[in-house]
Amino acid sequence: MDTKYELIVLGSGAAGMMAAIVAAREGKNVLLLEKLSSIASKLKATGGGRCNLTNTLSNDDFMSRFGRDGRFMRDALTAFDHKALLAFFDGIGVSTHAPDGYRVFPTSHSSATIIAALHEEMLRLGVTLLLGQKATKILVQNHQVHGVQTQNATYYAPNVVVATGGLGYPVLGAEGDGYTMASELGHKVTQLHPAMMPLKTKEEWVKNCRADTIAKVELRVNLPKHKKLRASGDLIFTNHGIRGPVVLDFAREVTPLLDTYGEVPLLLNLTKGLNEEQISAHIKNEVAKNPHAPMLTHISTLLPEALSRELCLLAGIDPQEKHNKIEGAARAKLMQILAWTPLSVTGHDGFKLAMITRGGIDLKEINPKTMQSKIINGLYFCGEIMNLDGPCGGYNLQWSFSSGYLAGLSGAMFVK
Ligand SMILES: Cc1cc2nc3c(=O)[nH]c(=O)nc-3n(C[C@H](O)[C@H](O)[C@H](O)COP(=O)(O)OP(=O)(O)OC[C@H]3O[C@@H](n4cnc5c(N)ncnc54)[C@H](O)[C@@H]3O)c2cc1C
Repeated sequence: MDTKYELIVLGSGAAGMMAAIVAAREGKNVLLLEKLSSIASKLKATGGGRCNLTNTLSNDDFMSRFGRDGRFMRDALTAFDHKALLAFFDGIGVSTHAPDGYRVFPTSHSSATIIAALHEEMLRLGVTLLLGQKATKILVQNHQVHGVQTQNATYYAPNVVVATGGLGYPVLGAEGDGYTMASELGHKVTQLHPAMMPLKTKEEWVKNCRADTIAKVELRVNLPKHKKLRASGDLIFTNHGIRGPVVLDFAREVTPLLDTYGEVPLLLNLTKGLNEEQISAHIKNEVAKNPHAPMLTHISTLLPEALSRELCLLAGIDPQEKHNKIEGAARAKLMQILAWTPLSVTGHDGFKLAMITRGGIDLKEINPKTMQSKIINGLYFCGEIMNLDGPCGGYNLQWSFSSGYLAGLSGAMFVK
């Protein structure tokens, strides 16, 4: 079957659907190819099904959270920032809100609302949506795109937007096909690391604290060259390590270090920022109130009981021992551990549970004003496939929507 379109989008994630809608709104004949049997599988899973669409930060603050390469996003954000995104959704019947003034969700708190509205808009605009079509090759002649081959058909268009996502959560469709197709055309793909996932630790005591949730944890890497790597937020102990928002965010810093060092020592402040002196003063105060209680009772005024027990044991203290029976050196050690608890990250489950991919198509080969390839005319990239990744909090979806908007618009404008 040979069919001609003006623009073909590969992948029906946030980036691809936005690109298709924008190009179709410009009056273009758009085809969207999706390899799975339904659209937007990853979008559906976002925010635990609630879909944290974006956040309310200014463009400058937003970009700074992506690190040095964040400036690459300036044109896409200028064209389509969080305000434009919310106006867009309002225009297709989705109301949104930011309950904490920062993270934005659909008021339904359901990603299904977002997906249904995007789907309806694509149908209204006449986008041809073909499911179960896995793109296998982008056809190029004389450095100009002219079509896409799938497992059983060829589709022709002078513009192709690659929005096939990264490698994380492969069950949701992203298996890295776009990297292969782009590198076959001469694009460089930087080293790929799983990011935003739970981490495994060497210490087995964590399993005894399973499900203990600690708010406002401060976490830092304890390696001489990387002391500046820090994060703070809520943390949850698991059977094999740690998870929770601060861990998800920090994982993207830790995975490249794991490749280099094999093990990454961390120090965690689990006591809401209290230092050794403050913790010591707090415990003395508790002892004065309740002199016959065991150490466990005093520490449990700061931390959950299971964790308090494990940290006592780590300091070599019997949790049932009374304060005045514990030697000064052991007490000092406990205060030190309570101020900065050591944990060593030894691994993770790879891309299986990685919410995003660190690395991707080299930004040097993409024009930030258009999202067009600098190597092949008519080839565009958007979303997670590019070498940019942000923290938790709506950053990655906003980037997918913004880059999808610019890629779709540029592709539509350059239609020959
Ligand atoms: C569990 C989870 C929760 C998350 N929560 C949030 C959140 O709340 N907020 C946030 O900002 N970010 C969140 N993220 C990250 C965010 O979802 C992604 O960064 C974003 O969805 C990427 O969008 P994309 O369009 O680039 O790629 P994807 O959404 O991955 O879409 C790519 C699409 O391309 C299709 N495809 C792949 N290869 C081919 C091919 N060869 N041919 C045709 N189709 C193909 C795939 O099937 C898929 O549908 C979360 C991620 C996960 C996994």
